[in-house]
Amino acid sequence: MSNTQENVDPAEVAKFEALANGWWDLEGESKPLHEINPLRLGFIQQHTKLKDKQIIDVGCGGGILSEALVKEGANVTGIDMGKLPLDVAKLHALEAELTIDYQQSTAEQKAEQSAEQYDAVTCMEMLEHVPDPVSVIKACAQLVKPGGDVFLSTLNRHPKAYLFAVVGAEYIMNMLPKGTHDYKKFIRPSEMASWCRQAGLNVKNMTGLSYNPFSKTYSLSDDVSVNYLVHCQKVTD
Ligand code: SAH
Repeated sequence: MSNTQENVDPAEVAKFEALANGWWDLEGESKPLHEINPLRLGFIQQHTKLKDKQIIDVGCGGGILSEALVKEGANVTGIDMGKLPLDVAKLHALEAELTIDYQQSTAEQKAEQSAEQYDAVTCMEMLEHVPDPVSVIKACAQLVKPGGDVFLSTLNRHPKAYLFAVVGAEYIMNMLPKGTHDYKKFIRPSEMASWCRQAGLNVKNMTGLSYNPFSKTYSLSDDVSVNYLVHCQKVTD
């Protein structure tokens, strides 16, 4: 993508603007994000130390992961294109007395300004909402220092993800607003791995994030068919 301003789907960002007020409602439409947050934080901590690290959270929304990273001692910049989620994030951090540098920016814009400034980049549940996920992955690779860590998560373009993340979550359980996810934009792990490699990132770990509809709980698992997390390291040469 030549014009870095273009990699934003306004309709996608509008969906999250509409959710902004309830972002920190643990029983609201962001409930799944709150429930998976300890698991993804745990995954990140398995692979990197957070204390005193410079981290950028790309597509940070209302700041659920950004705040958790700060509480572990990291210095965090959170970027998002949604103004309302950012306003909510800023207010929540203020109330929680946490310092987080929230900015309205795309990953691509930020990568032009701050290349190789970060020890780690997180980009969670965002790639399936942008027109060109490859461009975002490249920007994440540009933002991180050589040898630094990039953590990504998304939904797999697998029939089970259609069943769980679209039909189940949006239509049966009413966990998410209808239309939150577009199956065509889901990303297969093989695509993700090759896009990471093309961007100069070595894929080190991949793990599934599974939902048990009976116990209504999430866990990290070997099953990457619905939601999954990826840990990469930027090549050093
Ligand atoms: N990463 C957060 C929020 C995920 S929701 C979490 O997992 O808790 C997806 C977020 O991506 C929304 O806040 C939306 O506004 C943002 N987003 C969508 N397209 C974007 C773009 N092109 N650039 C930056 N943020 C974007």
